[in-house]
This record gives sequence, structure tokens and C-alpha cells, in this order.
Amino acid sequence: MSHVIVVGAGPTGLLLAGDLAEAGVAVTLLERRDGRVSNLSRAFAVHARTLEVLDARGLVEELDRTGAGHVSDIRLFERVHVDLGRLPGRFPYMLVTAQYNVERVLLARAVAAGVTIEYGTTVVDVHQDATGVSVITEDRTYRADYLVGADGFHSAVRRSLGQAFPGRSVLKSIMLADVRLRETPPDTLTVDGNGSEFVFLAPFGDGWYRIFAWDRRSDVSDDTPLELDEVRAITRRALGTDFGISEARWLSRFHSDERQVAEYRVGRVFLAGDAAHVHSPAGGMGMNTGLQDAANLSWKLAAVLRGAPETLLDTYQAERHPVGAEVLRISGTMIRMAMLRSRVGRAVRGVVGGLALRVPAIRRRLTGRISAIGFRYAAPRGEDPRVGSRMPDLDLADGTRLYEHLRGGRFVLVGGTAPEGWGDRVRAVASAGEIVLVRPDGYVAKIFGRTAEPAEVRTALAALVGQPARAGV
Ligand SMILES: Cc1cc2nc3c(=O)[nH]c(=O)nc-3n(C[C@H](O)[C@H](O)[C@H](O)COP(=O)(O)OP(=O)(O)OC[C@H]3O[C@@H](n4cnc5c(N)ncnc54)[C@H](O)[C@@H]3O)c2cc1C
Repeated sequence: MSHVIVVGAGPTGLLLAGDLAEAGVAVTLLERRDGRVSNLSRAFAVHARTLEVLDARGLVEELDRTGAGHVSDIRLFERVHVDLGRLPGRFPYMLVTAQYNVERVLLARAVAAGVTIEYGTTVVDVHQDATGVSVITEDRTYRADYLVGADGFHSAVRRSLGQAFPGRSVLKSIMLADVRLRETPPDTLTVDGNGSEFVFLAPFGDGWYRIFAWDRRSDVSDDTPLELDEVRAITRRALGTDFGISEARWLSRFHSDERQVAEYRVGRVFLAGDAAHVHSPAGGMGMNTGLQDAANLSWKLAAVLRGAPETLLDTYQAERHPVGAEVLRISGTMIRMAMLRSRVGRAVRGVVGGLALRVPAIRRRLTGRISAIGFRYAAPRGEDPRVGSRMPDLDLADGTRLYEHLRGGRFVLVGGTAPEGWGDRVRAVASAGEIVLVRPDGYVAKIFGRTAEPAEVRTALAALVGQPARAGV
């Protein structure tokens, strides 16, 4: 039986492993940590496109219940706000919830789908040959058809491939504190700065708050202990109050890098999430981008293991590398603007930024990028140019929605009739208009026009979904 190994049970690895298992692929997830999900969260924002991806897996309602609220308005600096409220789709906001809530939901789903998780297992090396991949851990060797390194910033898989992680540090000595407050801040997200310092404050929804603070004049190493009084003082200076910070469960310093690997695929080995790209926390896009990587790769691996051409796997690099590069650019621009030192520069930033965001096309582009709703993939040569664009959810005549039919990693043939043999992986839904094949990750796979010859549909399915199971399925 074909087998995929995923290294790293962070959000990226958990989504990917769960998708593969739901698609009927045997998956082993190797994780260095013990089995507990940490309550020390890094990300706390789930953006609109990720919510759509989770909707296509039936997980949004559960995750929403863990959240501290929906935020439609992100303040960048001065009076410059990004309004997510006009995003198209069911989720014109970002959900504020801790990364550990996302991981818990994805873990429960992966376990239910049958993923084998081996905790306390550290991957140290990887070798590949024509028939598969050998994954070497501290005490044994595993063998698989394909391997995905979702093992984060310090990825051992990336290192084993001999891949560089080019880029640089953008921000040093960021203070991170998870604290309780005696007073509730009036806004869900609070951010302010005075040119040499800034503080960002967000709730986790369970009584704890995350503070990121940065002081331009401070240049201490990440291992210098951080005291709660230092956090209180900078918060008061930047926000005018510390909202009665009472206790902390996590105090640390970190630096932020901007890096991207050149090759997301090397033969039978793939890199996804932070193993492939990292950038500043500005815009809250890191975890979200990793989850989109996973959603892009999982159906392709499942299809190739069911007989689709191997070249389908090359589209992972072609589609996701440019998105990663763009996320680095946007997040980098946001952090550099936030860090502007001179009074004049900050005044210009406020005026120019405010004016620019009044232009609908610029506003749409920025909100589309931050939320990932606006990303699209290039259409293959000769295909309708709409192929590769995000397919919006549709209300169907029978009262169901398109994204509900994507659940289980299925393709959906909108308005067409699925030929025999693919019934386990393709669902046909009635709809007037053009016949559209939608990928499991919610992007347009093929547009047939108003009618489609059965042979044409079969050819498309064999290329994208894999070989038919058997007649009548
Ligand atoms: C302070 C901070 C704030 C952030 N805020 C946001 C935000 O608001 N929004 C957002 O989208 N992103 C945010 N991010 C980024 C986000 O946390 C990461 O992008 C996300 O965790 C990446 O997920 P991942 O699954 O790719 O990697 P990780 O979460 O790093 O998971 C990798 C997993 O691999 C395991 N592992 C590592 N090496 C091995 C090995 N050799 N063998 C076996 N297992 C191994 C690790 O134990 C870990 O469980 C933030 C990051 C930081 C640091």
C-alpha cells in the first residue's frame, strides 16, 4: 500500500496528514515533541481563505467556538486601517484564536481519519532513490513513497536535502508575553507605537492575552531573560496603559527572519509551512500560508498515488512558491513601514497609506493578499484563463453549498455528470451555467463550457484525480 510520511505535527503537518488519511492514503506523522499540544501559542489569527479551507473540511464551527472574536478592521499605523469587511465570501474577517486551538481541531480530525502519529520521534536524515524515501530517526528507519517536511523553521528535512534557506533577520529582540489583564481593552486588537517602540495586544479568548513589544534601542540576545516589569513599562509607554497586567505564563524574546527555500519539491520530498518560508508576524500570515501549502499538496499526492501523472506534483512548486514570495514581500513591507524611525517618514506613511487605501484596487489587492482570498494560480497553457482562480462557495438548488461537497477531499463537478469510476473522489452537483470542475482545495481545475463530452471529462479526471476505481463506483 502506498504510504506518505509527514514530519512535524504543527498546523501544516496536521492538516496535510488529515487530508491524506481522509483520501484513503496511509500516513505516518513523525513528531519530535511528546503528545501534548502546547498552550504557548505563536499565531492567533486565522484569515478568511484559511476559514474557507477549514469550511471545506467541516471544521469552521468548532474552531469558531474557541475564538475571541471576529476582526474586520486591522490597524496598521496612524489612521491607516485595512478593512477586511468587504472581502468576498462567507468570512469577511479574521478569527482571533490561539494556534493551539487550530492544532487541537486538526489533531482530532487527523486521529479520527486514521493517521498514525509517532510522538517523541526526531527525524535526523533523509535519503531517496527511484522507489521511495528512507526517513532516519534516532532509533529506526522508515520507508515511504513520499515525504513531506512540515518540521518548521529549523527543518531537518530541508537540511537533509542540502537546501539553503536564504534570507535575513528583519527584527531583533521582539518581546513576547502571554499575560492576564485586570482591565479589558476596548478593542479586540490593540496596537500603537511612538516611533521607537511599539506594542501589539491580542486576546486568546480564554482570559489570556498576547503582547508583542519591540524597542528600537534594545538589542539583546534571544536568551536574555525578560521580566514582566519590562513588559509593563513598554506597554504603558506605547499604549498609555498596561491594562493592569497581573501575571504571565510565558515571557520570551525572539527575532524574526525573512527566508524562503528555492525548491519546495526535490524528487519525492516536499517542504511545506515554516520549513519552506518564514517572515515577520506582521499581517499574521505564517500559519495561514502553511495551511494553504498543505491544502495544495495533499490532493495532488493523493491523486498521484491513485495513478495521476507524477508531473502534477510539480505544480506544488509552481503554485505555492510565488505565493510564499509574495507573503514575504507584504509582511516585510508592513514591518518596515511600522518600524520607520523618522517623524517625517511616519507622517508621510500615514498620509500616503491612508490615501492609497482609499483606492479600491489597492485596497482589494492588500486585503486579498493578507486574507489569501486574492491569490490565484496561473492557468496551464491552453486552458481557460479562469482555471487556477479561487472558486467561491455557491448556494446550490438543493439547499446545500459547494464547499460542503468538497469535504472528504473530493473534487466537485458543478453542473456536469461524473462518469462512472470516480464516484468515490468526484461529486457532481446540479447547477445552471458552465460546467466547472473544482479541486479539493477550492480552486478551479477545469472549465468545460455549457456542455461536456464524457470522454473530455474522463481525460480531465485521469489527469487530476487519478485512475478510475472500478466501473460503477
Ligand atoms: C511570535 C510569533 C507569532 C506568530 N503569529 C502568527 C499569526 O498571527 N498568524 C500566522 O498565520 N502565523 C503566525 N506565526 C507563524 C506561525 O506560528 C508559524 O508559521 C506556524 O507555526 C508554522 O506551522 P508549521 O506547522 O509549518 O511549523 P511548526 O508550527 O513550527 O511545527 C513544526 C513541528 O515539527 C516538529 N519538528 C521539528 N523538527 C522535527 C524533527 N527533526 N523531527 C520530528 N519533528 C520535528 C516540531 O516539534 C513542530 O511540532 C507567528 C510566529 C511567531 C514566532
